Amino acid sequence: MNNIIVVGAGAAGLMAAGQACGESSKVIILEKMKFPGRKLRITGKGRCNLTNNASVKAFIEQFKSDGRFLFSAFHRFFNQDLIEFFDEIGVTCKTERGGRVFPESDKAQDVVDALVEYNRNNDVKIIKNVKVESLEIKEGRIIGVTGIRSGGKGKNEKVTYPADSVIICCGGASYPRTGSTGDGYRLAKNAGHEIIPVRPSLVPLKYKDNVLKKLNGLILKNVKVQVWMDGNSVREEFGEASFIDDRISGPVILKMSRFIVDSLDLKKKIFISIDLKPALKEEKLLRRLERECTQFSDEKIDKILRKLMPSNLIGTCLAYTGLSSELDVSSLNSVKINCLLKWLKDFRFEISGYGSFDEAIITAGGVSTKQIDPRTMESKIVKDLYFAGEILDIDANTGGYNLQAAFSTGWLAGRSAGGIYY
Ligand SMILES: Cc1cc2nc3c(=O)[nH]c(=O)nc-3n(C[C@H](O)[C@H](O)[C@H](O)COP(=O)(O)OP(=O)(O)OC[C@H]3O[C@@H](n4cnc5c(N)ncnc54)[C@H](O)[C@@H]3O)c2cc1C
Repeated sequence: MNNIIVVGAGAAGLMAAGQACGESSKVIILEKMKFPGRKLRITGKGRCNLTNNASVKAFIEQFKSDGRFLFSAFHRFFNQDLIEFFDEIGVTCKTERGGRVFPESDKAQDVVDALVEYNRNNDVKIIKNVKVESLEIKEGRIIGVTGIRSGGKGKNEKVTYPADSVIICCGGASYPRTGSTGDGYRLAKNAGHEIIPVRPSLVPLKYKDNVLKKLNGLILKNVKVQVWMDGNSVREEFGEASFIDDRISGPVILKMSRFIVDSLDLKKKIFISIDLKPALKEEKLLRRLERECTQFSDEKIDKILRKLMPSNLIGTCLAYTGLSSELDVSSLNSVKINCLLKWLKDFRFEISGYGSFDEAIITAGGVSTKQIDPRTMESKIVKDLYFAGEILDIDANTGGYNLQAAFSTGWLAGRSAGGIYY
């Protein structure tokens, strides 16, 4: 009998374990939490954006590090295969804007339940409350793992589980309350693997200016956001940005956050510039402002500002432009109008840092893909040891790409460890 241990019952682990099963394999999952799939159940705001219907090429472009590493895994098990797989285990999927695929029920818990049931039907045993602490390696080959089993009431027991193959699916370091506390990096490092420094990605950003704290809760739709680094415009995205809990976040910010995190770590000066009226060229916006000044010449400036922006942004606008709320529209001369115009097109502020792993959707960095065989997910250093999921140095934008990577690498690692033809 081929004894296979999967460490971690997340997206990658649940897929790997089910796929590793065969007539001559016995598979167990060791999971340190009380329940499997803790992170999976909160994905996609509880709806689980499990993949994207983009092409392989477009998919790989979404990965920040070595996306090409995933080519073999995607070649064998990709988005349509995943959709069919879920359909077979009772989760019908639907595709939404941007090619994002969700379960038709809009419930991430249904995805978790179906994966757990799928494993049960394949005789995979999920052993909960076991935190794997070390890998047992002999003569360059994995022979088992040792973990701490918590039996409640503070009773902890050290247990060694012998194995012919081990698949490490411990996830990254983001959202540690879901169980992914970065344990896998230590296990991999002790086994001789290089770990690319880990840092938060898809993460909200911190700003320097306290004035912006008043914007808490503000959502800006259809804006253009530019990143300025050391005085040069280096990135831009169009879409939604939001101010939440003293951070700037939202899809466009998250998308650019990996680049900004790395730039800040290199001590670069980073500014965000928001164009609040991207559809209007400066000239057109100027004509609009002049027209409104004529139309509302008997009013205070507030009247015009309310037409131009959400009311909770007005205070910030006044602070940044130096205009007074008491100003009469009739006193707006061309200098003041220009100042307002410039701010509407370029509301710029400095970024001072980024959120912690507690707030990051994904971890950048991890087990170097150079020491993993992309055709099998097996370690090139330790025989019969496999890695899958976020623990690897792969991270992508939002849109279902990260979960597909976890499922595809999990599928491949499981089939390889189980010696199952594919
Ligand atoms: C809020 C949020 C929303 C997200 N939404 C999406 C989305 O909609 N679409 C998308 O594509 N991606 C999304 N992601 C990213 C996605 O969830 C991850 O990429 C994916 O879960 C990674 O799967 P994994 O199996 O590698 O790791 P995980 O799902 O993190 O699973 C790792 C498992 O290993 C266990 N474990 C860790 N260490 C040990 C140990 N020592 N012993 C035993 N068990 C251990 C953990 O408890 C955990 O159960 C989201 C992430 C977050 C945080």
